[in-house]
Amino acid sequence: MPNPAAHLPFYFGSISRSDAEEHLKLAGMSDGLFLLRQCLRNLGGYVLSMVHKLQFYHYPIERQLNGTYAIAGAKAHCGPEELCEFYSKDADGLCCTLRKPCNRPSGMEPQLGIIDNIRDNMVREYIRQTWKLEGEALELAIISQAPQVEKLLATTAHEKMPWYHGFITREQAETRLYSGAQPDGKFLMRERKEKGSYALSLVYGKSVYHYRIAHGKSGKYFIDDGTKFDTLLQLVEYMKIKPDGLVYYLKESTPNPDMPTASAAPVPPNHPSAKVPRKFISQNSDGYTPDPTGMGKNNWILPMDTSCYESPYSDPEELKDKKLFLKRSNLIVDEMELGSGNFGSVKKGVYKMRKKQIDVAIKMLKSGNERAARDDMMKEAQIMHQLDNPYIVRVIGVCEAEALMLVMEMASGGPLNKFLSSKRDEIPVNNVVELMHQVAIGMKYLEEKNFVHRDLAARNVLLVNQHYAKISDFGLSKALAADDSYYMAKTTGKWPLKWYAPECILFRKFSSKSDVWSYGVTMWEAFSYGQKPYKKMKGPEVMTFIEEGKRMECPPKCPPEMYKLMKQCWTFKWEDRPDFVTVETFIRAYYYSVAAKAEEESEGATKVTPA
Ligand code: AMP
Repeated sequence: MPNPAAHLPFYFGSISRSDAEEHLKLAGMSDGLFLLRQCLRNLGGYVLSMVHKLQFYHYPIERQLNGTYAIAGAKAHCGPEELCEFYSKDADGLCCTLRKPCNRPSGMEPQLGIIDNIRDNMVREYIRQTWKLEGEALELAIISQAPQVEKLLATTAHEKMPWYHGFITREQAETRLYSGAQPDGKFLMRERKEKGSYALSLVYGKSVYHYRIAHGKSGKYFIDDGTKFDTLLQLVEYMKIKPDGLVYYLKESTPNPDMPTASAAPVPPNHPSAKVPRKFISQNSDGYTPDPTGMGKNNWILPMDTSCYESPYSDPEELKDKKLFLKRSNLIVDEMELGSGNFGSVKKGVYKMRKKQIDVAIKMLKSGNERAARDDMMKEAQIMHQLDNPYIVRVIGVCEAEALMLVMEMASGGPLNKFLSSKRDEIPVNNVVELMHQVAIGMKYLEEKNFVHRDLAARNVLLVNQHYAKISDFGLSKALAADDSYYMAKTTGKWPLKWYAPECILFRKFSSKSDVWSYGVTMWEAFSYGQKPYKKMKGPEVMTFIEEGKRMECPPKCPPEMYKLMKQCWTFKWEDRPDFVTVETFIRAYYYSVAAKAEEESEGATKVTPA
């Protein structure tokens, strides 16, 4: 799960105060010695434990809803790492500056806490129930969308709770609470007239009390001057245990009569069920849609909201018809051209299935094309037909009619390089991290299935929307035999040399490791917003450049962590190069650590004004 401190060597996870003190003692008790641990009370918060003059000091760091981190009353920072960096230069109220990190002993991982587990389970359940996903599709949704889902959950989970009554007046609340028995602690939550403002209405001694829930500038919810909470759900759960200024603690909720499942079967706590499936929310091309409630919150489109996250054949009814060759009568070919190449053109279309119609892209072979081109298209179709992953363009099938046609899922956002170069100033760098993480997930799948792509490049990553990428163009791809780890090309061909690893050019040897090299070049293209790699150099010059130990420079906006990964992908010897399992793990950790910030920036960049 997103934990922006997980990668820090001085982060110990969920350890107690006394354990923290033990570690500091073992590390020598020097002035300014410090470590970071998870805060057990505040969701997403930390504690900075440090030493000064042989005394221990523990400073809680809170995570505010806007994604920043601060020691109470002090300056906010965009992450725990940045916060520690700041205090290493300026004590700003601490006992002294942070001087020496107390790192975890080698081999020791940060301790996972109960909060991590609850959070993990909530995200999993939310995804399972909202998008009705299981198995691999569920796991991939968790990996790729955990930060977004966590935020969604934090800000909207209360809407799924039976005690949440939405916008009703104070009088309506009283009518609902006075109907039936009126035990102390019977309550409901309602939304007030002012946007984003809420109230708790509570029965005590047969009277109803109303409490306004303030929503502070930091994004926290609280009543009067009481405890502050990140979410309304946490506020209610807490006040079920501790009244914290209320006349009585919250006990029994009055189910919202307008919530169908709530009255029939109460929603179990921590299991936000989806009454309104998120699937197929109408979307803008940037992947964002105004919140249907008009609340002013952005309701962003996740890959799982689109119709191409799961295979069109994930429905067993549709699976009955799955064949490589499609009937022409089920295919409508539009005149609109999406792109073109030597082979012919790619057109928009619709494919009629048993229960639904899906948008498709149709690669049409030019008439009069020789046998070799037909064979190539058939090979591409056969390879793609065996793949099923949300981050890879799926082939629906081929159709032989006015031309040989390869029918694929539609990715209407176009190639990644073109998209980024046209939106240079609008797309925050964290959005690029998100997309490249998805490409890594798709490539990890290929590696696992023993397929080599051989043409991974930004031009062959197509976008469904601004936050959803799919790998395409399997024209050069090969399926390796189970016990082969590479493919040896018999002859050289028209190859994208700038994307190829040394062993491809020197020995015509292609493997998932050479795809990793290409992934590094694709990363460079993405982080330089669609620039051409190796400037004006020709393919063979690039080989000399690489053999001399030189590598492309870090693109201006590229985070150093991402450049580090690129350079690892460009390890000369394939044996020493990371595989996609390692690449995906690395980029995932970085993506999670910046995801909170990414949402903020991208909301600013692509904000859609609600109607
Ligand atoms: P290709 O020869 O496969 O690289 O396709 C040429 C161009 O057609 C691409 O650059 C895209 O603009 C477009 N295209 C190819 N496949 C698709 C697809 N599945 N969805 C949308 N556009 C596509």
